[in-house]
Amino acid sequence: MSQPSHPSKSPAQNRGIVYLVGAGPGDPGLLTVRAAELIRTADVIVFDALANPVLLAQARPDVEFIDAGKRAKSHKLTQDETNALLAAKALAGKTVVRLKGGDPYVFGRGSEEAMYLYERGVRVEMVPGITAAMAGPAYAGIPVTHRQVATTVTFITGHEDPTKPETQIDYDGLAKLAQTGGTLCFYMGMGRLGIIVDALTSRGVSPQTPAGVVQWGTHPHQRSLRTTLDQLAAEVEAAGLGAPAIIIIGPVVAVDPDGALRWFEQRPLFGKTVLITRTRHQASELRMKLEALGAGVLEAPTIEIVPPADWSPIDSVIRHLNDYDWLILTSVNGVAALRERLDHLTLDARHLAGVKIAVIGDATAAAMRAMGLRPDLVPTQFVAESLAADLIAQGPVAGERILMLRADIARPVLAQKLADAGASVDDVSIYETKTSAALPDEVIEALREKKVDYVTFTSSSTASNFVELLGKDREILEFVKIASIGPITSQTARNLGLDVHIEATTYNIDGLIAAIVAAAT
Ligand code: SAH
Repeated sequence: MSQPSHPSKSPAQNRGIVYLVGAGPGDPGLLTVRAAELIRTADVIVFDALANPVLLAQARPDVEFIDAGKRAKSHKLTQDETNALLAAKALAGKTVVRLKGGDPYVFGRGSEEAMYLYERGVRVEMVPGITAAMAGPAYAGIPVTHRQVATTVTFITGHEDPTKPETQIDYDGLAKLAQTGGTLCFYMGMGRLGIIVDALTSRGVSPQTPAGVVQWGTHPHQRSLRTTLDQLAAEVEAAGLGAPAIIIIGPVVAVDPDGALRWFEQRPLFGKTVLITRTRHQASELRMKLEALGAGVLEAPTIEIVPPADWSPIDSVIRHLNDYDWLILTSVNGVAALRERLDHLTLDARHLAGVKIAVIGDATAAAMRAMGLRPDLVPTQFVAESLAADLIAQGPVAGERILMLRADIARPVLAQKLADAGASVDDVSIYETKTSAALPDEVIEALREKKVDYVTFTSSSTASNFVELLGKDREILEFVKIASIGPITSQTARNLGLDVHIEATTYNIDGLIAAIVAAAT
């Protein structure tokens, strides 16, 4: 009798499903498009310790997160418990994403989970991921194959003890592969490094064979070293490298002696950790740019943007925008709020046709251009004083009607200067800010453990809120360098008793980043 072409235990209709998803090695950019799509739509996400928490930020707000690798308060779920949990959630009709580091089928027990679920009639689909032994070496500048040097690459678990008779790993075979230049990549081998090396050299593999280790591959805190097989254990110990790491053995480790392929570790902020203090809403641009330069980024949101309690006075001025000569916007958040309100009032950019527009900052200008509106005035310096001066310089403002849409906490200097010049200014707060309740625990911990190199302040209010949130913990700032977006923010920080080490010369995000890079290199 031939095998049925469909599963004998056909999954029940309209039940849930488990997607077994590879999360990749750590760098969120190495998540597959399919994985990201499933993370965004899942009802339940079950993940392990190795899955990067950044990936989870894309999930639905009402998603149920289950940390199967959690060791702290409760206990780490056993494999049986994890299996049972996945089945129960799916059978209750949920869409479950089972997120696993790297690739689920590479030393990840993914196939065991899939078989278990299949046995219980649960639908399972699988999304492969980029496995650590491909990504880690690549980010350390080690190609796992190289024509004429390595024609095979083998992934091996180092978890089994090669000296025990019950080992399934064929070290004779591995030694042969290594002797012909093949690449060996060991997962989970750091605890047995010496034993693995002995197992190979005792079988004739040259002690001079190039060998390397990549720890936390693709993460901002990746570390790597390259040496020869006989030196490997001693060098790893001297460097203090440990799990999670991939051990790479073979001539490929030495094909790039000049470091031409080591792009990741050569980025200007590689190995640095920057703590950014902004509203959650704004942090992404700064974060992305710092990460692209190799920095590890921690976020300490100090202020939250909240909608005003009553929109009616704001809506009323927006409806009568055409009564004004100038509209002034001082932040991206202000532009976002204006856009939202126009939309709410079933208006659009055409409603601003008759009014001239002035903005502070090129990010604010860019946000306006994204609405199809080209600002008439962007001051040369991105501060309120400069906008007032430039506005007055471009023509008399006496008698002009000016509308300012700004944050509730903006400094009053701009409205004051324009009023002094004879303009009639309506100064309206279009969004409100409130101080966050507390700093995230991971932020306090990282500061305390001296893992933070730079703290950025992008406004006076972030500086003062941050210091307020630190409270009596402020002495933990002693070991970090403070980077400020400009002189006004720096002055606020100094008034708070902080040393400012780095100050942007162009008072915007790019200027702040350039100043940090200059200080770091
Ligand atoms: N399924 C995973 C492997 C899980 S086994 C994958 O495909 O990558 C866990 C081992 O993977 C660790 O002990 C380590 O050897 C390796 N590993 C996982 N992530 C890593 C990383 N970012 N850098 C280096 N090694 C990693």
